[in-house]
Amino acid sequence: IKKIGVMTSGGDAPGMNAAIRAVARACSYYNIKCVGYYRGYQGMIEGDSVELTARNVKNIISKGGTILKSARSIEFKTKEGRKKAYENLKEEGVDAMILIGGDGTFTGGMIFSKEYDISVIGVPGTIDNDIFGTKFTIGYDTALNTVVEAIDKIRDTASSHNRLFFVEVMGRDAGFIALNAGVGAGAEEILIPEEDLGLDRLLESLQRSRRSGKSSSIVVVSEGDKIGKNVFELAEYVTENLPDYEARVSVLGHMQRGGKPTCFDRVLASRLGVKAVELILDGQTNVMVGVADNKLLVTSIEKAVKGKHTINKELLRISDILSV
Ligand code: ATP
Repeated sequence: IKKIGVMTSGGDAPGMNAAIRAVARACSYYNIKCVGYYRGYQGMIEGDSVELTARNVKNIISKGGTILKSARSIEFKTKEGRKKAYENLKEEGVDAMILIGGDGTFTGGMIFSKEYDISVIGVPGTIDNDIFGTKFTIGYDTALNTVVEAIDKIRDTASSHNRLFFVEVMGRDAGFIALNAGVGAGAEEILIPEEDLGLDRLLESLQRSRRSGKSSSIVVVSEGDKIGKNVFELAEYVTENLPDYEARVSVLGHMQRGGKPTCFDRVLASRLGVKAVELILDGQTNVMVGVADNKLLVTSIEKAVKGKHTINKELLRISDILSV
């Protein structure tokens, strides 16, 4: 192994820079060259790259976003696109690629490594935490902290006006952010795609809160919730059925993807980045490195893509008890 490539792809996440730095520094430590590709697979197709050295990744561990940029590449989904990417990697002398991203990124990598003789190693980077084979993905902890801070602020205004707030958070089809940030911010109700609370139970629960003397309520709604109404329709439905409630909606949106990574995400990204390089040196390919029980864990990319990371339902019970 003489040269390793690294890229970030799919939705960006805080801590991706810390992972890039770890890959570049580990390469330098083991005397391997390192090249970064811009805009994920698109940069590989266009041969848009930069040499990464131990020194030119300085001061990025604390930065949100990704210095290599991210993109969704439609061209990489075609055979011709992947051929161009392979030819560029060969020309550059790249023996292995480290892919920092989510499910889609890993699917692309799996297909690519079946067609061509290139080792690929996945590093899970997404705020959604929806990857099998790791308890935590890079960016998730930072997003949780951002959401909790935002809900704390919404709580201040909600209680000053005796309002009910519906706060929509990201997470795609998974409720990790909603569930954990909901418990962390003391939400009265948490609506996630994995559990159908039902509209009747939601109304009952809000009525109970009112009767018990609560002056404000926060309902955290995951963007992928399958209650059959979007967050605005939900707020409307609740005010129609519970007229003494004044409801407001706040969609947190892309702020959840930004910001400085937390210490947890920086440490996680550092561990995963170094291990990814070491796996390549060990001759491994088509695997993803993750973490569980504070130990590094290696899973085949295929399993990572096909498996489902399930939420901790115990937290729903805790949330129920605590919103008494
Ligand atoms: P996030 O979870 O943050 O959205 P992701 O990695 O799942 O991240 P996607 O947009 O789904 O994000 O995938 C990233 C890129 O991976 C796509 O833009 C595409 O270039 C590539 N990719 C995804 N699926 C395939 C596929 N079936 N074949 C080839 N390439 C793919």
